[in-house]
Amino acid sequence: MNETPTRVYAEIDLDAVRANVRALRERAPRAELMAVVKANAYGHGALACAKAAQEAGATWIGTATPDEALALRAAGVEGRIMCWLWTPGGPWQAAVEAGIDVSVSGMWALDEVRQAARAAGRTARVQLKADTGLGRAGCQPADWAELVGAAVAAQAEGTVEVTGLWSHFACADEPGHPSIQLQLTAFRDMLAYAEKEGVEPEVRHIANSPATLTLPESHFDLVRCGLAVYGVSPAPELGTPAELGLRPAMTLKASLALVKEVPAGHGVSYGHHYLTEAETTLALVPAGYADGIPRHASGRGPVLVGGKVRRVAGRVAMDQFVVDLDGDPAQAGDEAVIFGDAERGEPTAEDWARAADTIAYEIVTRIGGRVPRVYLGA
Ligand SMILES: *Cc1c(COP(=O)(O)O)cnc(C)c1O
Repeated sequence: MNETPTRVYAEIDLDAVRANVRALRERAPRAELMAVVKANAYGHGALACAKAAQEAGATWIGTATPDEALALRAAGVEGRIMCWLWTPGGPWQAAVEAGIDVSVSGMWALDEVRQAARAAGRTARVQLKADTGLGRAGCQPADWAELVGAAVAAQAEGTVEVTGLWSHFACADEPGHPSIQLQLTAFRDMLAYAEKEGVEPEVRHIANSPATLTLPESHFDLVRCGLAVYGVSPAPELGTPAELGLRPAMTLKASLALVKEVPAGHGVSYGHHYLTEAETTLALVPAGYADGIPRHASGRGPVLVGGKVRRVAGRVAMDQFVVDLDGDPAQAGDEAVIFGDAERGEPTAEDWARAADTIAYEIVTRIGGRVPRVYLGA
């Protein structure tokens, strides 16, 4: 049962998750912490990470979809859970019955949650989301009075309790971006209006990981941290995980499937975008884009084999890619670390993000369902 998988696997260090939650709580000492575990905890495993985060003092768990939240509740996660990405006809009643905080950005959602609360015979815990400038989910300032008024009326009739007022940043990963102060001002105005109308929220919150790390005035009552909980830096400009006091929780490892000598001038992988310069040793890494290795990082992605960081040679294929060991010896079964912790000399998710022209969020989150997770510190 507990044998280490041999092809490719993601080691998830739950002690790192706990340490990161504690570090983030120190960065936001007056606020509570929500561990955001959407998308299977950014690929790290939602249930294991939610529990580890709670053990380290996270008092809230956040997900995008109601199904993610309901699955955690069903698996035994207690305490506050919030989810925010709703569509008409969503499982409102199940969420109300499970005591999950639901986000409402507009009138249609408030209507549906009131009906669900009536059907459940329970008060729904509702958090009103303000669009303070992101231009995605959330209620526009011009529509806020109508939404707040309807929520206060629903509160009076007993179907709804407004437990939170919240918003989300557009550019928190670019400290000093002018939109940040504009969003904070809009948020304070929208809070003040709702509170004047009689809303008494348990929590007011706007900060994601980068705002938690860089902008104390954004912490309010609660900070919502996703990526930083997993020990990954939200943006290169903010620093490395170590500089931010974080430890990467995921190490993606594979076993070499084949090592062989090839002559000079040998093409490697589809399209022959790589040609060996001299006689050399090629190693086959049995992980590909079906596992979440970005094909965009073909020819660039770094991999640690035999104590040296090598580059992907040629194209990343669906299930495998090749590295050129420059003649160094190795054998089938040797370990290849695709990314992990720079403090151990390993390539990082941030390195792969650069190689694939994307953000580190995507690198860890895209690690696929075919990759087993192996938990350390469970
Ligand atoms: C994903 C998400 C977060 C967490 O963002 P990080 O930058 O990963 O900390 C917070 N709030 C909302 C609304 C989100 O969708």
